[in-house]
Amino acid sequence: MKRIVTATRLPRNTGVSAWVAMLEPRRANPPLQADISADIVIIGAGFAGLSAAKRMVELDPRLKVVVLEAGVIGEAAAGRNSGFLIDLPHEVSSDDYGGDSTQRSKEAIEISRTAIALASSIAAEQGWTRDIFDPCGRYSVAISEEGDNHLTDYAAQLEKFGEKHQLLDASEIAGITGSKAYTSALFTPGTVMVQPAAYIRGVADSLTNSVSIYEQSPAIRLEGTGSTWLVKTPEGSVSTTRILLANNGHAESFGYFGGQLLHVFTFASMTREFDPARLAGQRRWAATPALPMGTTVRRVQGAGGDRILVRSRYTHHANLEVSAATLRRAGAQHDRKFRARFPDLGDMPMEYRWAGAMAVTWNSVPAFGEVERGVFAACGCNGVGATKATATGIATAELMLGHTSRLTEIYSRFDKPKAMPPQPFRTIGAKASLAYREWRAGAE
Ligand SMILES: Cc1cc2nc3c(=O)[nH]c(=O)nc-3n(C[C@H](O)[C@H](O)[C@H](O)COP(=O)(O)OP(=O)(O)OC[C@H]3O[C@@H](n4cnc5c(N)ncnc54)[C@H](O)[C@@H]3O)c2cc1C
Repeated sequence: MKRIVTATRLPRNTGVSAWVAMLEPRRANPPLQADISADIVIIGAGFAGLSAAKRMVELDPRLKVVVLEAGVIGEAAAGRNSGFLIDLPHEVSSDDYGGDSTQRSKEAIEISRTAIALASSIAAEQGWTRDIFDPCGRYSVAISEEGDNHLTDYAAQLEKFGEKHQLLDASEIAGITGSKAYTSALFTPGTVMVQPAAYIRGVADSLTNSVSIYEQSPAIRLEGTGSTWLVKTPEGSVSTTRILLANNGHAESFGYFGGQLLHVFTFASMTREFDPARLAGQRRWAATPALPMGTTVRRVQGAGGDRILVRSRYTHHANLEVSAATLRRAGAQHDRKFRARFPDLGDMPMEYRWAGAMAVTWNSVPAFGEVERGVFAACGCNGVGATKATATGIATAELMLGHTSRLTEIYSRFDKPKAMPPQPFRTIGAKASLAYREWRAGAE
């Protein structure tokens, strides 16, 4: 009997990502316009899908891998995030950055560092400059007494783990950011900052030989007969025995993980280019908020000039789409956050605003593993998505090829994603929880 799985939705990206706009237009790989075959078909060319492809051909260079991307590489979340490849745990769904059990925290660090090691090896191989891949570390910044206390507690946790860190007072962090708003900060050196669109395009373009990537080629239907799957796109198809769903929340659009993924969107704005003399401090730095759900701020300098990125606001959209009005409301919040931190730059308009999707699970585990015969998934994250999705891609590639590693061992112990309450309670609960957490983050 034929098994048919049809995609009920395809991704839609709202707003223009500054990271894409600041690059030359991409010369995308042509769409799939033929009926072909492959050993493995990967659906989705984000962190998870491309890292999986990289790991697969590392393990078996003879493998024929096809990657299908619905849009143009770099246009979706992997190319529209804030560019933090973070090595230490902090979860948007967590109340306490440092509160995991020791074992879980150590494993979270191992997971992130495995991902960063893969990214670093690609950066070295491709000879990327600091404009694309900058191992410069990150500041966690506080703007309130609660934030200060949180950073002090987190520093004590890092001390226990033997992790390098440095606490900074208000004047020291002002010397770096040029902002007098921050009351304290904690520097940790292991984060790598990327230009996310350049990074993900670069990873795709580094995959040569046995990996064929087709852009603007959404998988719209999976047809299973015996041990064979036919993955259909609007103009072609790929016959295979193994499929990897690396399309994040859109795994649910194919009917997988129903009621287990929460579709959370976050938003960013980037200023237009400004005269660097207008803001003291260093010309490149990256800061995440002391409290979960607060505001990320990053100063960039490069071909696009000196600019500041502000990322904040989390909203839930069960239909995986964000309206222009929701983006506008998030943008108004970005403007307020920006003015509070940089009053001297208060008149600086934002040139770009955009939204992007994340898929979160209730119990903070990845949506990972074999979901039915021959169909595997590497989806879902809970914050720190760039590194976690990369690691999930690597772990799934290893699982699919029967390779065992420290990563597969850690992943094999993850629980399955927990079922969330049915609709409409899921949406009501998610909106209430996000609003409460944002309220708790306050000025942060
Ligand atoms: C504004 C913003 C800022 C963020 N900042 C950070 C940050 O600084 N650090 C961090 O760690 N995380 C950050 N994140 C989260 C991070 O970007 C995501 O967690 C991460 O991109 C998830 O990677 P992924 O590969 O699982 O999914 P994605 O990056 O979403 O990739 C999935 C791909 O699948 C494709 N796809 C979907 N359906 C189909 C289909 N039917 N056929 C073919 N292709 C399909 C999509 O087009 C997409 O390219 C941020 C997110 C946003 C939106």
